[in-house]
Amino acid sequence: MEHWGFNDEVKEAARTRRRLDDRDFSKSEEESVGWMPLSGERARRFEKEAIAEIGRGHDLAGLDLTAVGTCPGCDDVLFRLSDSSFAIVHLTWSGNRETPPWPQTTKLGGFVATDLAIAQHAH
Ligand SMILES: [Zn+2]
Repeated sequence: MEHWGFNDEVKEAARTRRRLDDRDFSKSEEESVGWMPLSGERARRFEKEAIAEIGRGHDLAGLDLTAVGTCPGCDDVLFRLSDSSFAIVHLTWSGNRETPPWPQTTKLGGFVATDLAIAQHAH
């Protein structure tokens, strides 16, 4: 359970969208467990791709997305949405608009639902 825990850095990034320093990243990579927090340029890359892929009729259409974390095991991305909920999205990386329900998305409520989804995340 602890292994796939929604780690504190991801929670913190989600709350404050603060920029994490390099030490935080290398620590996460070294441990190779849990979700890696995203910020700055790396976060923007995921956000741009999500915006490109999400089309009309998709669950997330019309919402602003902020990438806050990614799973190193499967590249799922956790986004904070402009309605204050969260969603885990599996981007296709096609660079093009997809047909809903793609990119595959799990919409979550607040932190409690997100904690649970991350804790239960498995491959
Ligand atoms: Zn994963």
